[in-house]
Amino acid sequence: MHASSVQTLSAKASCAVRPAPVYASRLRARRGAFVIRAALAQRAEYIWADGLEGDLSKGAVFNEMRSKTKVIPEPITSMNPKDFPDWSFDGSSTGQAEGNNSDCILNPVAIYPDPIRGGDNVLVMCDVLYPDSSPHITNTRALLVKLLTPDVVAEKPMFGFEQEYTMLNKTGQVFGWPAGGYPAPQGPFYCGVGSESVYGRNLAEAHMDACMKAGLLISGINAEVMPGQWEFQIGPVGAPDVGDEVMIARWLLHRLGEQFGIVCTFNPKPVQGDWNGTGAHTNFSTESMRKPGGMKAIDEAIERLSKTHAEHISQYGTGNELRLTGKHETCDMNTFRSGVADRGASIRIPLPVQLKGYGYLEDRRPAANVDPYTVARLLIKTTFGKEQS
Ligand code: ADP
Ligand code: MN
Ligand code: MN
Ligand code: MN
Ligand code: MN
Repeated sequence: MHASSVQTLSAKASCAVRPAPVYASRLRARRGAFVIRAALAQRAEYIWADGLEGDLSKGAVFNEMRSKTKVIPEPITSMNPKDFPDWSFDGSSTGQAEGNNSDCILNPVAIYPDPIRGGDNVLVMCDVLYPDSSPHITNTRALLVKLLTPDVVAEKPMFGFEQEYTMLNKTGQVFGWPAGGYPAPQGPFYCGVGSESVYGRNLAEAHMDACMKAGLLISGINAEVMPGQWEFQIGPVGAPDVGDEVMIARWLLHRLGEQFGIVCTFNPKPVQGDWNGTGAHTNFSTESMRKPGGMKAIDEAIERLSKTHAEHISQYGTGNELRLTGKHETCDMNTFRSGVADRGASIRIPLPVQLKGYGYLEDRRPAANVDPYTVARLLIKTTFGKEQS
């Protein structure tokens, strides 16, 4: 077929249906336009959270990231999400729709430079809408935004999210562990150094670098208590940005894991037995807590949190009961306890905060696979005494 079309072309040329030079220059012009278009075109990676993990009867948990690429034919000059078109996807393949009515809408909410593709390419964080533009049931971001009433915004709530995760090799074993076996008992690994203790640092470093290049407010990383387990921190940052940034950071971790052949999991208890679970401590403050005398506001918040413990626990991640047993940091999930510098507590007041008398509190209950928009929403809801559930 290819050969015959070449023949047709040369036959046309030799018949002089069109003078050869005109044809050639038109071809050049068209190719030139194509080259210019290709040079100007940029890629926008539309990123969203799916619905496969969700258990709506227990509260939404939607952690698995999805994305697809849109080639934008012009240069990208705006970082305003409103300048990016909505898009759609097949919700029946992501646990977000039935097959007979499967279209869901991707609504851009935040734009970041793409640290992997570089150049003017961007990452586009999206929330998910129904075709009538109302928020999808998996859209926990919209629920959070609804709570950001003027009284809440005036108190400038800030969040610091400690995202723990575990690296696995492709067969599901913890990265760096001896084949079919276990490393030495926990002890030397937390914040460790040296190849006998620390596995997977290259990925953790590459991820931190990518988060910084994307402009995320990443505040640090550390190797965790179980070898092969790591943590990065996002914050302090306001709402709903904390959720957007955590979601983008999770996506970057999975995406870079492809390059390293490492699978990153947010499973709250990836290894049974005497091994630490994987959490997402959430540090929280309001303007009143952050100024001198703020301990009063912190104590009031803890008092309120003690009364909504069950509601928070029910939405703090799936499988969290395997992590919150009371045996590995943080008390069991049916107990609420607060304390200064107490890493066995549900809510910890960091020692420097106690010494200064103001600052923030740490909610140690969320599992690593928690929905960050949901943690932020519940902390605001409880401490501000809001009605919405
Ligand atoms: P830990 O000692 O529990 O491991 P980390 O240093 O890992 O604590 O994380 C503490 C987090 O708290 C960081 O993300 C930091 O940005 C955040 N943070 C610091 N101050 C505040 C504040 N006033 N409000 C909310 N978060 C804060
Ligand atoms: Mn298709
Ligand atoms: Mn930490
Ligand atoms: Mn930690
Ligand atoms: Mn912590």
